Amino acid sequence: MHDLTAIVADITEEMQAAPDRGRPADYIPALARADVSQFGMAIVTADGSVHTGGSADEPFSLQSVTKVFALTQALGRVGDQLWDRVGREPSGSAFNSIVQLESEQGIPRNPFINAGAIVVSDVNLARGAPRAALAELVNFVRYLADDDTIAVDTEVAASELETGFRNVALANYMKSFGNLRRSPEEVLDLYFGQCAIAMSCRQLAMAGRYLMAAGLNPTNGHRVVSEARARRINALMLTCGHYDASGDFAFRVGLPGKSGVGGGILAVAPGRASISVWSPGLNAQGNSQLGTLALERLATRTGWSVFARGAVADS
Ligand code: GLN
Repeated sequence: MHDLTAIVADITEEMQAAPDRGRPADYIPALARADVSQFGMAIVTADGSVHTGGSADEPFSLQSVTKVFALTQALGRVGDQLWDRVGREPSGSAFNSIVQLESEQGIPRNPFINAGAIVVSDVNLARGAPRAALAELVNFVRYLADDDTIAVDTEVAASELETGFRNVALANYMKSFGNLRRSPEEVLDLYFGQCAIAMSCRQLAMAGRYLMAAGLNPTNGHRVVSEARARRINALMLTCGHYDASGDFAFRVGLPGKSGVGGGILAVAPGRASISVWSPGLNAQGNSQLGTLALERLATRTGWSVFARGAVADS
């Protein structure tokens, strides 16, 4: 067995001292103030042990990491019909890009870019009110994390509502193609609220456990999704979870992962661990600079890459 306590301590020490820390997202004013000296990390293993380092209990804005939980909810609602309205291919474009939507008739490439997540919000809205749909998502992540204190940071949601002009454009553009059922305003109300959910690394690693546990919630053994669905969500995270840096993330880390502009990343080592890292400084593609590096170090030390002979490395 790996000495995860020592590995997490080593990685945390290295990240806390790292000189090149990236820059916080500045297009959302409430995120621009984030302190790039912060670093946190949490690992929850299949046998339930928890290993944390740095600011692992500090809540941060989850942003696009929530796209994983919203997708899970939408698949539960409409199943494979979702794929009539959202693709499953990496976009190779920035997370907030609009370019492919014109030639692809308003069908976003995948559920993890903003356009795709906005369609997912439309599905999760169904016929209800945005506030009710957001409460449902918050309840879902509380259930997954086994933690009722998880909440939405309303200041971040309001900040994004004021400045989210690109997302407004994406929603209106897709509406013009008939790919939103509800109004862009209602859909974005849910989408911005969803992005503003705050969690700590510990809570996020707990919430991601079903993806390493073949779809089961380890707290109570209940099934969250089928094993096949967990596998497919992991596949989408691997191929699309880091936008136009998804290939680079697979190359460096080799685990399904989903990033957010708050600087968090959820990564899954299937059968082994649910991992989360947070550091608010981002690289050019909007992914956490040190979060990515920390996961690269972890994959190297543990051999947990999905492309490696993991079982051997584990012994
Ligand atoms: N709320 C952010 C946005 O829509 C999420 C983007 C992200 O985390 N990559 O711009």
